[in-house]
Amino acid sequence: MQDMSDLAQRIAGLRARISAACERAGREPSTVELLPVSKRQPLALVDEAAALGFSTFGENYVQEGAAKAEARPDLRFVLIGPLQRNKAKAALQAFQEIQSVDRVELVERLGRLAEELDLMRGVWVQVDLWGEATKEGGCAEADLPALLDALRDQPRLPLRGFMAIPPPEQPGAFAELARLRERWRDAQGQPLRLSMGMSGDLEAAIAAGADQVRVGTALFGARS
Ligand SMILES: *Cc1c(COP(=O)(O)O)cnc(C)c1O
Repeated sequence: MQDMSDLAQRIAGLRARISAACERAGREPSTVELLPVSKRQPLALVDEAAALGFSTFGENYVQEGAAKAEARPDLRFVLIGPLQRNKAKAALQAFQEIQSVDRVELVERLGRLAEELDLMRGVWVQVDLWGEATKEGGCAEADLPALLDALRDQPRLPLRGFMAIPPPEQPGAFAELARLRERWRDAQGQPLRLSMGMSGDLEAAIAAGADQVRVGTALFGARS
């Protein structure tokens, strides 16, 4: 591995972790998407990752992600951080998908703006089953039916699945999310993907059925 760059080595290490987790879970590694999270990392590192085959990147902050998206129009950027209503338009313009949709008011605003801008954007509903909503955002389970109803009225915002950031000290959180997905997949009659698991806990997320893991530090190193 001596002639591999740091990034190439970390990618190889991460792929090995994902493969091992899949093997233990009896899953095909190709069924787990790796979303590289490039927040607070320089554009040069995004370029390096792009040269190694990645084309989609997760970003937390609208302004930072929009600057990267503008600088690299051939790459895709996905918003995984909280979205305030006054940044909704900028977010729709910069990001191909928004994973942090967590309230009806935001759905209605995004839908109106997507119409005005003549855009389609895949969205994920960020859920919070643990009452942490004020910290990281996320829709409480009790509010989920109304939010999914609101999305059904928005053809420009197709629903891709559920995203969550469970608190680390919460055993069984990934399994709870898998059950939630199961229930709503049956009710909605459409596939719903599950985005869960980060650098520190992706094995547990894969074991519980994650379709996408979002990985920052294990891939790009410590953030600035
Ligand atoms: C920062 C972040 C990640 C990546 O976290 P790491 O621990 O660096 O892998 C994933 N998802 C969200 C929502 C984040 O904010």
